[in-house]
Amino acid sequence: MSILRAMEKYNHENLVFGQDRESGLKAIIAIHDTTLGPALGGTRMWAYTSEEEAVWDVLRLARAMTYKAAVAGLDLGGGKAVIISDPGKAKSEELLRAYGRFVDTLKGKYITAADVGICQQDIDIISQETSCAVGRNPSQGGSGDPSPYTALGVFHGMKAIAKIVFGSERLAGKRVAVQGVGQVGYHLCSLLAEEGAELAITDLNRTLVEKAVRAYHAAAVLPEDIFAVQCDIFAPCALGAVINDRTVPELNCRVIAGGANNVLAEEYHGEELLKRGIYYVPDYVLNAGGLINVAEELYGYNRQRVIEKVARIYDTVTEVFQISKREGIPPSQAADRLAEKRLARRKSWWTGQGVSKVG
Ligand code: NAD
Repeated sequence: MSILRAMEKYNHENLVFGQDRESGLKAIIAIHDTTLGPALGGTRMWAYTSEEEAVWDVLRLARAMTYKAAVAGLDLGGGKAVIISDPGKAKSEELLRAYGRFVDTLKGKYITAADVGICQQDIDIISQETSCAVGRNPSQGGSGDPSPYTALGVFHGMKAIAKIVFGSERLAGKRVAVQGVGQVGYHLCSLLAEEGAELAITDLNRTLVEKAVRAYHAAAVLPEDIFAVQCDIFAPCALGAVINDRTVPELNCRVIAGGANNVLAEEYHGEELLKRGIYYVPDYVLNAGGLINVAEELYGYNRQRVIEKVARIYDTVTEVFQISKREGIPPSQAADRLAEKRLARRKSWWTGQGVSKVG
């Protein structure tokens, strides 16, 4: 499919290329939809093997951000950017500054943040060239590490699904298997342990496993055994695509609810889980806490407000499962409907005001 045809199919507004010969910058910014507000999404720095691969990735990621922001109730659109280079080799202050100037040319239509290959220190440099960068150092009014808020959102969402499936939102005594005890997974374990949940954990990193076992009396299992652990809730907090043809038959849980992005390898795995009576809470609904946290920087960061907004993930999860039940569709589709409903409502409001939005 041609690029413009793909943009038309998924209704992307813009795809902007930027380069700077001196610093070696080669970047692409995709803006999917700004109906709800300026497009916010991280910048990924990655050694893509081709420009084509980078283009498809940025288009896909930008669209996902539209849905995530819409479902989270944020007045933000969806966008994403990629810098085509190996972050370990090519990152320099000149390149990041050139990138900041590139972002600035979009005059606020796109706001950037950290993603794979771009950290908070990089954002601090980028933000010297543009005010359209969030996720800065807390000492400069930034929102800092988003992972505690991502974990908090997952925790609230788990409570909502527990109420639906087990009849009570209390997680005390529930067995939760956590895959990956990195930034998000570790914070999630802390919240679950405090509530009295029983934990089974795994990670490729032994030091992290030992730390979680010591801190939360968690039972450690081997990475390949985590799917088959008998538990109430399986919480994927490592990589994407972990629910796939191989792992679905192994699952021994009633609920899947975790912080990882793109948990389902393919959309049909959502239907597969539904058939097996496993409740899958859509990842982008659950893990929006980090986005909510970073977005607060735009209004003057207020931690208390972040905590309140993140707590609303409970209601969103409840609504997603109401739609899923009412319409007989997998929760992943129900979440998309919820996002699309919010976008349509805002679009009809624009139309009612006699304003047509130009992308
Ligand atoms: P992280 O790198 O700190 O933690 C991931 C952990 O998973 C690592 O410790 C890694 O060793 C482990 N891991 C990787 N593959 C594994 C495997 N096969 N089995 C067991 N463990 C494995 O990353 P993070 O920031 O905690 O993010 C975790 C997930 O949540 C990612 O998918 C990320 O995209 C998503 N996410 C994170 C945030 C955030 O605020 N950090 C926000 C939204 C979504």
